Amino acid sequence: MNIPRTSLPRVVIIGGGFGGIALAKKLSKKGLQVVLLDKHNYHTFQPLLYQVSTGGLEPDSIAYPIRKILQNHPNFYFRLAKVRRINSSDKILITNIGTIKFDYLVLATGSQTNFFGNKELKKQSMAMKSVPQSLNLRSLILQNFEKALLTDDLHKRDALMNFVIVGGGPTGVELAGALAEIKKGILPKDYPDLDTRRAQIHLIQSGDRILKDMSERASEKAEQFLEKLGVQIWKNTRVTNYDGKTVTTKTDLVFETATLVWAAGVHGVTIKGLSAKNLLAPGNRLKVDAFHKVIGVEDIYAIGDIACMETKDWPNGHPMMAQPAIQQGESLGDNLVRLLADKPLLPFVFRDKGSMATVGRNKAVVDMKNIRFQGVFAWFVWMFVHLFFLIGFRNRMVVFVNWVYNYVRFDREARLIIRPFKKDYSRFRD
Ligand SMILES: Cc1cc2nc3c(=O)[nH]c(=O)nc-3n(C[C@H](O)[C@H](O)[C@H](O)COP(=O)(O)OP(=O)(O)OC[C@H]3O[C@@H](n4cnc5c(N)ncnc54)[C@H](O)[C@@H]3O)c2cc1C
Repeated sequence: MNIPRTSLPRVVIIGGGFGGIALAKKLSKKGLQVVLLDKHNYHTFQPLLYQVSTGGLEPDSIAYPIRKILQNHPNFYFRLAKVRRINSSDKILITNIGTIKFDYLVLATGSQTNFFGNKELKKQSMAMKSVPQSLNLRSLILQNFEKALLTDDLHKRDALMNFVIVGGGPTGVELAGALAEIKKGILPKDYPDLDTRRAQIHLIQSGDRILKDMSERASEKAEQFLEKLGVQIWKNTRVTNYDGKTVTTKTDLVFETATLVWAAGVHGVTIKGLSAKNLLAPGNRLKVDAFHKVIGVEDIYAIGDIACMETKDWPNGHPMMAQPAIQQGESLGDNLVRLLADKPLLPFVFRDKGSMATVGRNKAVVDMKNIRFQGVFAWFVWMFVHLFFLIGFRNRMVVFVNWVYNYVRFDREARLIIRPFKKDYSRFRD
């Protein structure tokens, strides 16, 4: 990889997401050589992916070059690389651009969409975990309306204009709300010759409430907001398959749609060589101790979504969210510096700042430690927090200006099919 070997200990981090970036920032001014590897050359702000999918934001405004984030850090090296295998005994990583030796290794590889082993679902449905996937979804949504215009078969047209979102967590809720707003505010203007009132947005949840990790009040309120926007919510409904047109469920409920978005769960991204069953907790997450060391191997650590630290307060590990990932990156950074200085390590303690989700214009729910609120104020808090955590002044400004523009104009102008999505429409033939 052409990275000079110096007398400094070398820490290799796999993944430039929330955890990996927080760790690299902590370490690279502290007398260590830090090598960050990521298969993308940018950091993705995943919480706003749904706005890219629905034309509210351009993709560039939620992605940021990793090299720029850390450009003033001495002893920092970035390589655009996909890590394929870890040889933990020889301390070597095998990647698509060559091999690299490490003194300490940190996995910050995040998570990926979990289709629970259903290959057809994986092939036919849309995921929303990365910028390219969000752009695919944006293209598909718009393509479907273009196709709907071309047919006079009412049944087929309805299926092209229906949207099924599986998973009532924040991602599903936010996407459903955004689609409902598009249906109301944009479709009638863009497609005056199409009866877009027939378009339907279905949100399917296997459990008995949406936003199940938030308070009951937040769930109820989010449900009310969504219903007001015209979203149909199906609780206690488990999807069993999707063949590209028909969604089947465990009950006799069936949906016809050209767009099924799978937001029903994620699991950790493991790498060969460190994916043995005894190292993993449920959800494909690496079991780590209170200092983020992967239990069972030496000098290898894990943070963020891929790490599962079982504690009294969090028996199933910390939530797979940005806050724990950032805090874990910072905590591990401090501990690695302490380790090299022969100081005792400090166990990780998660400071839970709460969670939030937005449903649409003036509608959000916020659960903080001592206070819970919903509605307009919650929506402003949601916007402020997301702007604050976005990386890069330019991105913050662009997102802010877009939000003000969209709010004032009731619009989402990035509804462009730049790269058409190759959907198999064979089941939609006349
Ligand atoms: C649509 C969506 C909405 C979300 N909304 C919220 C929200 O509102 N609030 C919240 O707190 N959290 C939210 N999350 C969750 C949050 O984004 C994640 O918990 C967080 O990104 C985890 O950070 P991480 O550092 O563990 O991994 P990530 O941020 O996922 O980063 C992992 C990195 O590892 C890289 N990588 C993976 N494998 C390899 C490999 N083999 N080789 C090289 N590089 C590799 C990836 O390219 C990626 O850059 C959302 C997630 C999604 C998908």
